[in-house]
Amino acid sequence: MMQPLFGVYGASGCGRGVMPLARMQLQKLGISADSLVFIDDNPEAVNVNGHPILSYRSFLERKATERYAVLAIANSKVREQLASRCANDGVRPWTIAASNVVTMDDVNLGAGAILSPFVTLTSNIHIGQHFHANLYSYVEHDCVIGDYVTFAPGVKCNGNVVIEDHAYIGAGAVIRQGRPGRPLVIGCGAVIGMGAVVTRDVPPGVTVAGNPAKPLVRG
Ligand code: UDP
Repeated sequence: MMQPLFGVYGASGCGRGVMPLARMQLQKLGISADSLVFIDDNPEAVNVNGHPILSYRSFLERKATERYAVLAIANSKVREQLASRCANDGVRPWTIAASNVVTMDDVNLGAGAILSPFVTLTSNIHIGQHFHANLYSYVEHDCVIGDYVTFAPGVKCNGNVVIEDHAYIGAGAVIRQGRPGRPLVIGCGAVIGMGAVVTRDVPPGVTVAGNPAKPLVRG
């Protein structure tokens, strides 16, 4: 009997971290791990961690009732390109959430997210498409997060913060809370260095680091 096919797109570090979560999610639904593969455009092996790595073409050619893919690649611009490729080919976005993720009230999470173990999303939060929240990250109340935003492990995003599309927040960064009606805003494509303490708005495209976080001047 034909089955749906599920892919973790990207067979490198990010993808190998997501695969076990994807497997557990399917297990709970009673779906066999045979329906779960990696997809990679530049595979370094035919198999990794017990799953075949297929080219995107072979993923499309495998017989299946429906196809789902989670984009497990940290680079948000790549995710955006792959999302439109998948949409054109009828491959549906797949959201993966670890079983111990905590989600409170009125969390609106866009398609294709990856929520790693120990992630917490508290109340009244809006998050766009293809969000990555890596291990132990949290998003506090009343935050608005755009599309293709990436949190490395241990990001502390406090309340009333706006994070625009394609921003990247490095490991262990702390973002100070904003105020109702006057959120702290991290602009589109901004990069927050690991361990940064962000106390004020970050303009679009700017990289900041340090405590308090300041724009990085390359020497
Ligand atoms: N990749 C891909 N298609 C693309 C871009 C990247 O299949 O258009 C794959 C690439 O071959 C690699 C993975 O995605 O296996 C990205 O791995 P990398 O170690 O650069 O990043 P991470 O896993 O940390 O996101």
